[in-house]
Amino acid sequence: MLIDSHCHIDGDAFDEDRDEVVKRAKDSGVGTMLNIGTGDPHSDDFRKAVAVAEKYDGVYASVGVHPHDAKLYDDKAEQHLSDLVKSSEKVIAWGEIGLDFYYEHSPRDVQQQVFRRQIRKARELDLPIIVHSRDADDETVEILKQECSGEAFRGGIMHCFGGTPSMAEDLMKIGFLISFAGNVTFKKADQLRDAARVVQLDRLLVETDCPFLTPVPFRGKRNEPAYVEHTARFLAEFYAVEFETLAKRTTQNFMEFFGL
Ligand SMILES: [Zn+2]
Ligand SMILES: [Zn+2]
Repeated sequence: MLIDSHCHIDGDAFDEDRDEVVKRAKDSGVGTMLNIGTGDPHSDDFRKAVAVAEKYDGVYASVGVHPHDAKLYDDKAEQHLSDLVKSSEKVIAWGEIGLDFYYEHSPRDVQQQVFRRQIRKARELDLPIIVHSRDADDETVEILKQECSGEAFRGGIMHCFGGTPSMAEDLMKIGFLISFAGNVTFKKADQLRDAARVVQLDRLLVETDCPFLTPVPFRGKRNEPAYVEHTARFLAEFYAVEFETLAKRTTQNFMEFFGL
């Protein structure tokens, strides 16, 4: 039993064969998936993400505006996403939100304002957050330290972790789980593995971020939830534990975190 803590199976890449993709995941022991909605909050993109979760057993959804689209976030967008949260029991998190200074599709100051605003909205709705950070780790940690303190914070997941060991430590201190994607299996990812070394097993999750970041041995092909097993097997070897132990542990971490 494994969980894909971060996938995008509502995306166009899966329009042709979504039923088979979900079936393959379940046949491979991936019984639970968290589908992360992305896109334009003024379109039907997020409605589709929630509809996919509603359609399949074991598929949950998260809604929130990606840093790429931060410039599109306004009162109307926030209302639309809040309504979606209230419309379905399957929506269990707010995200992915955060900072992406690598692509910088939205201005940096707008990304930071919208990141803070969405954390506050998630807290108001009593939802945990899913965070994306690329080339903005210091700024991300600073905002999280400021906005996520206090008892009532429901916690967060740093998805597709790509930071330093000290970033991982800082995040775990403020109640975050650390999720690794297929890129941890790549040959040149030594830096990423240095960070993985400090992550305790009870804070660990695995994800595909599919259709992107396909793990070895399928690198280059479209990624899908069934492949999360390869990342999990790699990490089990890395932590020198049985695969079953890591699978059970990451599943338990996810279930406890979301109270499922
Ligand atoms: Zn992301
Ligand atoms: Zn993602």
